[in-house]
Amino acid sequence: MIIQLRGVRGSLPTPMGNREYRAKLASILSRAVEAGIKSAAEIGAFIDALPEDLGYNYGGDTTCVTVTSRSGRTYVLDCGTGIRPLGDEMVSGPWGVGRGAVDIFITHTHWDHIQGLPFFKPLYIPGNDFTFYSPYPDLADRFARQMEFTFFPAPFDKTGSTKRFVHMNPEEPLELEEGLTVDCYPLKHPGGSVAYRFREGDKIFIFCTDCEFTGETMESFGTHSAFFLDADLLLLDSQYTLDESFNKFDWGHTSYTVAVNCAIRWRAKRLVLTHHEPSYSDAKLREIHLDALNHRNEMRCDSPEILMAREGMVFQL
Ligand SMILES: [Zn+2]
Ligand SMILES: [Zn+2]
Repeated sequence: MIIQLRGVRGSLPTPMGNREYRAKLASILSRAVEAGIKSAAEIGAFIDALPEDLGYNYGGDTTCVTVTSRSGRTYVLDCGTGIRPLGDEMVSGPWGVGRGAVDIFITHTHWDHIQGLPFFKPLYIPGNDFTFYSPYPDLADRFARQMEFTFFPAPFDKTGSTKRFVHMNPEEPLELEEGLTVDCYPLKHPGGSVAYRFREGDKIFIFCTDCEFTGETMESFGTHSAFFLDADLLLLDSQYTLDESFNKFDWGHTSYTVAVNCAIRWRAKRLVLTHHEPSYSDAKLREIHLDALNHRNEMRCDSPEILMAREGMVFQL
């Protein structure tokens, strides 16, 4: 399985502002002066050695992830604004000439998880075939509502592709192709959300965004469901700091501290923190990453590996 992150920002698309860009630029240039960079040939290695928040942008597009199976078939998780550049990539292949087919899994229909769909080019090309999976029987109607003429010029039911909707029941695995299954699990989030678990051979990927785990709910989930256990890769909501999560109780998101606790309890091999708070700069996200690593070390654990979700990241399981 190959998992690629296409959008990692929570709540709202967040392009980098000029103030942050210039601060980042100043910081990079002062490091270049300190490092004594003298020629263009040294630039590549210098950039590669920068801390992650300077060498990269974590990214401003909202949630979208792809899973590619061993057979080469690709599955899409959520239609946040990260699906727009994915669609631009897809139209250079079979989807550009109406010969593409793809399965799309929806965790829930808050805007940040569906707002890229109207800008997803393959949707408009006749001959393309989409199957949408979710636990929501009215998913087609929800998509149609966000594209009503008051809000968007092209109605959902007039887009050229063929669409099918498959209703999923929690914890009932579906076999997507030989050796690849998926199931879902309901999460605590305003209006509901589900986690998806992909299993191929002995590898497990869990996509668990928009969920509010606290010390208490982590205990009950850990006790009552094996769903979350033993993931090779766990992509988990960690929108807030612990302090913020107390002020935003019932807002439906998890602090990074509790996310680390969850991953330890669930024996995840690798934890990727995602659904980044829109008001957090890259520097703040870097601080959070370091603090999450410290927290894991204070718990006297050397596992899971902990990473910050970043647009374009690729994982091979
Ligand atoms: Zn969200
Ligand atoms: Zn949500």
